[in-house]
Amino acid sequence: MSLTERQRQILKIVRENGPIIGDEIAKNLFLTRSALRTDFSVLTKAGFLKSKPKLGYTYIAREEKRYIKDIMGDVVSVDSELSVYETIIKIFTKDVGTMFITEKNSLVGIVSRKDLLKIAIGKNDIERVPINIVMTRMPNIIYCEENEPIIEGVKKIIEHQIDCIPVVKIKEVKGKKIYELVGRLTKTNIAKLFLEYYSK
Ligand code: ADP
Repeated sequence: MSLTERQRQILKIVRENGPIIGDEIAKNLFLTRSALRTDFSVLTKAGFLKSKPKLGYTYIAREEKRYIKDIMGDVVSVDSELSVYETIIKIFTKDVGTMFITEKNSLVGIVSRKDLLKIAIGKNDIERVPINIVMTRMPNIIYCEENEPIIEGVKKIIEHQIDCIPVVKIKEVKGKKIYELVGRLTKTNIAKLFLEYYSK
């Protein structure tokens, strides 16, 4: 991807001084933090920067991206009681291709764009049908954990012919497994890494 001059300056500051908070970066550039909001967002989403609560931004070099947590995207999910209609709205507003479904903060299902298309073109009352009727559910969900090497996630995507894998932290609460969502690994994350790797 091509970065603007200002984005390059931000990366240089973080590389040399990180972890560094947004206000400090802005001060270095004689700008306000809010003027840099879009740049921070672009650089974080593209996997150049990681934002850590209280610490600020750290730089992630291409060579350092080895684990799924280094390239995964943000969680986008809906509650299992939401309707198919509401899920479709969310898939548009959040601009994603796959939606995760949760119940009490645990991953229980997943729906793809085509799952939603299928139900929408049938004679269904999508405002009434809850999303949990149509989703692919546990234990059939292919997931990964954030400390797995990136290559393991790529293998799962290819082997299972899917676009997206939820990244979870597995916990046990009262003898029951809870799959807490922490991120998403998509073909786009992998393509971005590929591009970064092969472009100067
Ligand atoms: P599309 O259906 O739009 O081609 P996918 O290839 O990602 O998108 O999904 C194919 C099917 O696999 C869908 O029915 C979807 O519910 C299911 N699916 C998607 N992601 C996963 C996953 N991580 N684990 C299990 N099933 C999945």
